[in-house]
Amino acid sequence: MRVIFVGVGEACDERYPNTSILVKIFGSEGKKRCFLLDCGFSAAHAFWNYVTNPEKLDAIWISHFHGDHFMGVPLLLLRMWEMGRKRPLTIIGQKGIVDVVEKAMELSYPGFMNRFRFELTFIECEPGISREILGCTWSFAETEHSKRNLAVAIETSSEKLFYSGDGRPSSDSVELISGSTIIIHEAFHVRDEVPGHGTVKNVVEIARNRNIKHLALVHMQRDVRKWRELQIRRELAKLEDINVYLPLPGECLEL
Ligand SMILES: [Zn+2]
Ligand SMILES: [Zn+2]
Repeated sequence: MRVIFVGVGEACDERYPNTSILVKIFGSEGKKRCFLLDCGFSAAHAFWNYVTNPEKLDAIWISHFHGDHFMGVPLLLLRMWEMGRKRPLTIIGQKGIVDVVEKAMELSYPGFMNRFRFELTFIECEPGISREILGCTWSFAETEHSKRNLAVAIETSSEKLFYSGDGRPSSDSVELISGSTIIIHEAFHVRDEVPGHGTVKNVVEIARNRNIKHLALVHMQRDVRKWRELQIRRELAKLEDINVYLPLPGECLEL
């Protein structure tokens, strides 16, 4: 699979676009699939640095209804319409996803949804029920966050990607991590526990305990990342049993 970090920032980061990840993976039907995981305010613009064909994206996953994770959807859809997209697009999220996207679209660009020449297919998902979507098995688990957030695992016969969205790991989300080829996890702080968010220390520990080989840390508090990035990178580089990345926007991992 190929993982491209469109954005790695938290909600208010002035330097990096909101956390948003482009995943290219071969589904069970042998087709290459392209998924976007979260699309906040500043991610929609950044997306077009990595995708030039408006037909390429198969699905968007929205982890929760905070603006830095979904408010870029109206702009992304608007530009797809402007560029002449015709293929249906799937939008996947927790209960309420249809209403949230329709309202955001209507507030941002009233009446435009009726003008789209492509169909939007919404799929509502909940923890405990895995779904076969576009050639992959999708599973979900709630994390501990101020707004209900679902972590997602996207799995094929040979690969598994886990993305936390926002939130401190829960026992359910930790279970969902097992067997992942790569974990992409939010780490808002380094070791100071804050309610509703993960830490570098905690997430690295969880990944090592489960013999995960690749861990990408995203959504770090902007001042922590700005002032302590070098020191954090030095510490992470000392770990020998796991590759821990602190990706920059545009960075790509081939796994
Ligand atoms: Zn966030
Ligand atoms: Zn959030």
